Amino acid sequence: MSFSGSTSGKVFLATAVLIALASTIVWQRHYLILNVMASGEPPALLETSAEHISSRWYDEYFIVENIDERTFAIGEPLYYQQNFSYLIVGNERAVLFDAGPGYRDIRAVAESLTELPITFVPSHFHYDHTGNQVTFERVAVVDLPRLRSRAKDNQLTLTWSEHLGSMEGIETPTLHITEWLPIGSEIDLGGRKLRVLYTPGHTNDSISLLDTSNGLLFSGDFIYPGPLYAFLPNSSLKEYLEGSNNILRETETNNPIFGAHRDSPPGIPTLSTADVLALQRTLISIRDGAATGEGLYPRTYKVNERIDLLTEPPLLQDWR
Ligand SMILES: [Zn+2]
Repeated sequence: MSFSGSTSGKVFLATAVLIALASTIVWQRHYLILNVMASGEPPALLETSAEHISSRWYDEYFIVENIDERTFAIGEPLYYQQNFSYLIVGNERAVLFDAGPGYRDIRAVAESLTELPITFVPSHFHYDHTGNQVTFERVAVVDLPRLRSRAKDNQLTLTWSEHLGSMEGIETPTLHITEWLPIGSEIDLGGRKLRVLYTPGHTNDSISLLDTSNGLLFSGDFIYPGPLYAFLPNSSLKEYLEGSNNILRETETNNPIFGAHRDSPPGIPTLSTADVLALQRTLISIRDGAATGEGLYPRTYKVNERIDLLTEPPLLQDWR
C-alpha cells in the first residue's frame, strides 16, 4: 500500500512523521534537556567561600562541621553543586552517607575523623553522590529487586540514567557491594542505629537514613534548601509524594533534616520535618491541579521560601 499518490496520503504521511518526531522528542526528553544543561566537562572550581568559624578546611577543598560529637557534615564548597556528605559514627562502625563527585578524596577526610571501619552508603546513584574515582572497601546499597537482579557477584554497574556522569565527563562506575540494605531495616553502628527509609521521587532508588536515637534525618537529594529536581530520568511526582509520606510517618514534628546540597554558603543544609510537610502539600496540590507553577520545562512550583520543586510540564507529569 502506498500513500504517495494522493493529497490525503501526503497529509497522512506528514502527520505520521510529525507524530513520530514528537514522540521521539518526548521519549528522549531527559537526554535532550540534560545535554542542554551540561557541558560534558569537569566544572571549574569556585572561589573559596566564607564559612562558619566552626568549619575546618581539609585539603583546601572540603569543609568539616560537627553536627554533634559523632556526626560530621563534610561539604564541598568549591564544587558548584555545593554537596554535603555525612559521616555518622557509632561505637563499632561508621557510615559515610554519600561521597560527592569524587574530584578529591573524601575517603581520606572521613578516615581522619574516625578509626572505625567506614561503610559507604549512597543516597542514590547520581554521579555527584557516588564518589566515582574514590573507592571503598565496604559499600552498602538499598536492597531493591531490580538492583539485586542486575548485580552479578555483588558487582553493580550503574546505567547512564542512574548515574548521569556524562554531564561532567565522568565514567559510569561499577559498585562492589558488600551489604544490601532492606527498606525499613536498621544499620547497627554499635549503640546507634540508622533506619533505611525509602524516599523515591528524585530517583526511584533514593533512600534517607534516620538516626533513631537522636532523631536526625539524612535526606540525600530528596529534600534540601534550593531547587529539588523532579524532572530527571527515574524521577516521579507520584513517588515523591510516597517518599514524603514515608518520612512523615517515621519522624516527629521538627526533626532536623540534613540534605545533600546547600543553596548558598555558609553552613550545613539543614531543614526540618515542617519542610517535608510543605513538600507533601505542594505535591498534593500539583496532583489535584490546584498548584500554579512557572516556566515550561522544567516547571517550577514554590514549596516555601527556601525550596522549589522542579518538575516536567503538567502533560508529562507522572501520577500513575
Ligand atoms: Zn541526585
